[in-house]
Amino acid sequence: MTAYELTGPILAAEDRTVGKAWVVGGRVTYERPRHTDVTRIGGWVIPGLVDMHCHLSVGPSGPVDGDLVLKHALTERDAGVLMVRDTGSASSLEVLDGRNDVPKVYRSGRFIARPKRYLKGYAVEVEPDELAAEAARQARASGSWVKIIADWIDRDLGDEADLTPLWSPTQLADAVAAAHAEGARVTAHTFATESLEPLLDADVDCIEHGTGMTDSHMARAAASGTPVVPTVLQIANFASFAALASERFPRFAERMRRMYEARHEHVTRMWEAGITLLTGTDAGSSIAHGDLAREAAEMARCIPAVDVVAGATWRARTFLGAPGLAEGEPADLVVLARDPREDIGVLAAPTVVMLDGVTII
Ligand SMILES: [Zn+2]
Repeated sequence: MTAYELTGPILAAEDRTVGKAWVVGGRVTYERPRHTDVTRIGGWVIPGLVDMHCHLSVGPSGPVDGDLVLKHALTERDAGVLMVRDTGSASSLEVLDGRNDVPKVYRSGRFIARPKRYLKGYAVEVEPDELAAEAARQARASGSWVKIIADWIDRDLGDEADLTPLWSPTQLADAVAAAHAEGARVTAHTFATESLEPLLDADVDCIEHGTGMTDSHMARAAASGTPVVPTVLQIANFASFAALASERFPRFAERMRRMYEARHEHVTRMWEAGITLLTGTDAGSSIAHGDLAREAAEMARCIPAVDVVAGATWRARTFLGAPGLAEGEPADLVVLARDPREDIGVLAAPTVVMLDGVTII
């Protein structure tokens, strides 16, 4: 296996920049190796990017499996995304089992929703009183995370249709407790304000989208250290959801349009409240895989680039319990021509992507 000298700078941790590092046997070391021929690589080194909200089993026309799941994973990898939290599968990720040439994936099992209350054909659909049992089942299957759809449009309300919670607060709390009892963590899709209090009361571990958060929800999430993945690229789609729904579901359309218009300011407010914001693309249907750099650039319109880079690397890895670039950790890293904290756009053009010490590009 090739050994490398990284001539740096190495952004080893959020508060630690190191001049040089080496990669020996697929791992990072800060001790100069003896008796080893090394290949030199220059540039700014960051830990492999983390897409905290990604759907590897979803493509532009819906659920996929097999080779297309693999293709999505390789697309992420080639963009420097070496760790993915798959926030809900629509089929199976088993094609990735045992492979060492794909990003490291934190799985969440299948999406959990109620019949007719999420995208058709994506979720395991259960009645509300079955939620806790299903959360436990998906926790055992993923061994890692569980993904619950907390709110969605209720079309049965006709003219009055709007986003409403899928579950009662007690059902939600029981489900989170059931997943926790299996050793898993729980994250939830939420656009609506009405879901936030029950989710925070239930000790949910992470919040996806969070477009309905009020100042008091933000203060609670900041205090409990519950991160939010704001998926800014996805929220940009709310304008088209609103346009499509405006005739039949005016109430829903109006709410989506308001959240669309406030989307950048909303992310800034979450940051000002002290919430840990992590980067996630929501890649799958309307957002292409491998687009984390674009999400990061969009987030950098709302919050300082230094926090965006942290949310795409060190903070995401710490939150997941994953390694970074400490001595002896796997050499999962990205090399950039410039400091991404000064120029977030450079994330889109890695000069080297290295997975377990093997150069991918
Ligand atoms: Zn999603």
